[in-house]
Amino acid sequence: MNKKTIKDIDVYDKKVLVRVDFNVPVIDGKITDDNRIREALPTINYLLEKGAAVILMSHLGRPEGVDPKYSLKVVAERLRELMPNTEVIMADDVTGKDAKAKAKALKLGQVLLLENLRFDAREEENDKNFCKELSSLAEVYVNDAFGTAHRKHASTYGVAKLLPNAIGFLIEKELNIIVGTINNPKRPFVGILGGAKVKDKIGIIDSLLDTVDTLIIGGGMAYTFLSAMGYKIGESLFDETNVDEAKRLMQKAKDKGVNFLLPIDLVETTAIDNVSDAKLTKDQNIDDGYMGVDIGKKTIKLFTKAIKKAKTVIWNGPVGVFEKKEFAVGTYSIAKALTKVKGTTIIGGGDSASAVINMGLAHKMTHISTGGGASLKLFEGKVLPGVDVIDNL
Ligand code: AMP
Repeated sequence: MNKKTIKDIDVYDKKVLVRVDFNVPVIDGKITDDNRIREALPTINYLLEKGAAVILMSHLGRPEGVDPKYSLKVVAERLRELMPNTEVIMADDVTGKDAKAKAKALKLGQVLLLENLRFDAREEENDKNFCKELSSLAEVYVNDAFGTAHRKHASTYGVAKLLPNAIGFLIEKELNIIVGTINNPKRPFVGILGGAKVKDKIGIIDSLLDTVDTLIIGGGMAYTFLSAMGYKIGESLFDETNVDEAKRLMQKAKDKGVNFLLPIDLVETTAIDNVSDAKLTKDQNIDDGYMGVDIGKKTIKLFTKAIKKAKTVIWNGPVGVFEKKEFAVGTYSIAKALTKVKGTTIIGGGDSASAVINMGLAHKMTHISTGGGASLKLFEGKVLPGVDVIDNL
């Protein structure tokens, strides 16, 4: 990789503005998974050890303007617990009076956390003045927010153009593992894609078909493919506008000799909440008035067999409505199968990462990405704007 990392820049006696991804799940005012905060610690600690003062910035959720429900104060508290020997100061605003004053007074070895970047609408607009206000708080910029590196926002993109810059250890690690694996996979190389929307994943299916040996499709997006093959899909998720695209992708798989696996039986029910109506189909056809909500037993066997043979697996998206435990069997079976792989297993963030973590299987995977959208872009072979904007070595 030819991008500058924090090891390539001088931060001694400097204020360093670090974009981190502290977008953690908060339920009833409590952080339920602090993995993203922990993953930011190596960069923060390194900068402090090198004699910098660190100003952290992140978004949390999708607030519309200032909303105390989305305050990063809860993150500051967690950070204090994780860094007991460091003074962590919380600003009351993003680039307002309080942030400016606290940034100015910040001493070497101290950490300042700005309020939720999305309290200011200019963040997502990559507004010039907002970039200037952020950059004026510090002397160096570091991007370590892998989870938002696929976005061209002020804090992930615009501000990098105004300060000497580098990527942090988390982004470096994610890039090395994901890009390194995809560019040089041990074979058989298996891709697993699930989730709801075909539309979002066409580009990645298309590019994965150029590299994988087997592509497994599950979840809500399987039904557009099954429908394109002439099977009955009842009330299942269906993207009418992408049927031709689904046909083209299946033809491409054939032409390339890629083993393209779709479900061969399913769990169907009358509505997602009607758990008691759930039954197993005998083949790929869904009954009238029913919708597919998980993969069936035969499919689990078929998918598991392909996964276990793999030397490299990448996975993004649940293969069923896994939020309901009754329909999570398929997704959990995939996670279990991955633990049997004698090779590299990469989980592309988001729901599949939650499934693996909830099952207590995280330690059995090679890598669980902290960014769903960003890792998908890398699976697709795309460049992330938040990395692209960083100076080359
Ligand atoms: P995505 O954001 O595209 O990865 O989609 C994730 C969502 O897909 C999860 O909330 C799942 O509940 C949902 N999902 C997976 N399989 C199905 C299905 N068969 N029908 C409806 N939704 C599904």
